[in-house]
Amino acid sequence: THFGFRDVAEEDKAGLVGGVFSSVASSYDLMNDAMSLGIHRLWKDHFVSKLDPRGGIKCLDVAGGTGDIARRILDHARTKYSDRQIHVTILDINAKMLQAGQKQMAQTMYWNTPQLSFQLGNAENLATSRPPDFGDQLKPKAPAKLPRNSPVMPPLPTIPIADNSLDLYTIAFGIRNCTHIDQVLAEAHRVLKPGGIFACLEFGKVSLPVLSDIYRQYSFNVIPSLGQILAGDRDSYQYLVESIERFPTQPQFARMMQNAGFHLAGSPEASRWGINSLGGSTSRTEDQDVQGAWEDLTFGIASMWQGIKL
Ligand code: SAM
Repeated sequence: THFGFRDVAEEDKAGLVGGVFSSVASSYDLMNDAMSLGIHRLWKDHFVSKLDPRGGIKCLDVAGGTGDIARRILDHARTKYSDRQIHVTILDINAKMLQAGQKQMAQTMYWNTPQLSFQLGNAENLATSRPPDFGDQLKPKAPAKLPRNSPVMPPLPTIPIADNSLDLYTIAFGIRNCTHIDQVLAEAHRVLKPGGIFACLEFGKVSLPVLSDIYRQYSFNVIPSLGQILAGDRDSYQYLVESIERFPTQPQFARMMQNAGFHLAGSPEASRWGINSLGGSTSRTEDQDVQGAWEDLTFGIASMWQGIKL
């Protein structure tokens, strides 16, 4: 690709990914719908409804992009539990993605309320000790009353996230873009409170061999062409396809969560806290102890994993 992806040094990847998402930010939602035939909306609905967020908890949606998960978390708590206390911070490495998210959120009832904040940050280093100032973090610089549809967007702060400060950490279609997945998981574990939940939605490995071949053909041939036609950017979408291919298998990712210190959904410890098996399956006997940690969506085209910090 013109990003020279295969040749870049690992440490350059964050900058590279930033560039990819800058170039796709404006067409991002359209492309999501086109590539997945709209199915990503169902996956995201399912991901959030399975988490069943409620009760004024503090959530961090990492690699939150244009806010699809955050909006669903807020909607779920409000419509199912009349909960307007729940708080979501959308964190992303890319200001353009966040600004696209701000524009969309400006159309919702959550805009300019203490329920929602945006911040720039790197999933691999959410660092240091200052506690997140959730309700107030946008207030000092944002206009007192921001009219809906306002072109004036609040500034995007970078605020370190404290240890043991969050109830729910979500990351959807973001972790495969990170260079050091183990660091992302270690950071997720650090910022969650004991009892906090880690939940990841990501492209998985397709379980049915026939479908797997068709899906590979579709990914490598159709998606870059769709990128060219709809977004005028073949290379960025070629990169996205390659990043899906490189991502670990469902049980491999579950093991990485375990190594970061999470108790996997369905394990005896997690089940005691109500985090039950998500019903994944694997034919490898050596992986059967971790298969409750994930659920395959659409035959594993996407998968969701859950774990708990205890
Ligand atoms: N979560 C959103 C969704 O499901 O629609 C956006 C997913 S989008 C495919 C991936 C996002 O990850 C982009 O917004 C990108 O900027 C962000 N990202 C990539 N690397 C990141 C990192 N190291 N830290 C935080 N965000 C990152």
